[in-house]
Amino acid sequence: MGQYGLSQSPVFKEAGDMYETSPFGMRTLNGKTYKHCGVDVVRYIGYNALATIVAIADGKVTAVKNTVTGVDHRRNLEGNYVCIDHGGGMVSKYFHLKYGSIPASIRVGVTVHKGDTIGYMGNTGDSYGAHLHFQLEQNGQAIDGAPYLKGQKTIGTLESDLAVLQKKGVINSPAYWLQTAPRVQYLPELIHNMAEVLQ
Ligand SMILES: [Zn+2]
Repeated sequence: MGQYGLSQSPVFKEAGDMYETSPFGMRTLNGKTYKHCGVDVVRYIGYNALATIVAIADGKVTAVKNTVTGVDHRRNLEGNYVCIDHGGGMVSKYFHLKYGSIPASIRVGVTVHKGDTIGYMGNTGDSYGAHLHFQLEQNGQAIDGAPYLKGQKTIGTLESDLAVLQKKGVINSPAYWLQTAPRVQYLPELIHNMAEVLQ
C-alpha cells in the first residue's frame, strides 16, 4: 500500500491522505493474473462518511451507470460509474461509486467542469471494500492514472492548453493552432507539455 500523502487530489473533494491500494498494471488476485487497467485509491474522511469524487478536468459525460446496489463479483463488475471524455483522446472513468450517490445532473451528454461532484466513493461491483478505481485512457488505451491523481500531470484540452500558451506570449493566434495542431502528429501532446510547464 503506497501512501500519496497528499492533502489535495484532483479527484477528491475533501482534503486528506490518499492511499493507493492497487496500482496500474499486471496483478494477481485469487490465483489469476491479469492487467489492472486503473489505479485503486481510498480516502476516508471520517466514520461512516465516504469521500466525494469530482471530475478531474472539464469534459463531456459519455456513460453513467447508477443501478448497481452493492457488491457483484459476476456481472456489473465496474459497479456504478461515470465516464468523461476530456477531448484530445483523453477519457477518465470512475468505478464502484456508491449506490444512489451520482447526482441526477450527471447524465450522458452533459458538460462537466473540473471539480464537479460525480458521486461518492463506494463498494459496488467487483469490489472488496470502498475504494475508487480511477481509469485513464489515451486514444482508447488505458494508461497509468497515478501521476494525474498525484497532480504531477494534468489533463488539458487543446483549447485550454493554447490559452495558457497565449497568456505566456508563446503564441498569438489560438484559433490558427486549434485548426492546425490536430493534423500534425504529436503536436497536441507537445502543446500540452509546454502548457503544463508554463502554467
Ligand atoms: Zn481497480
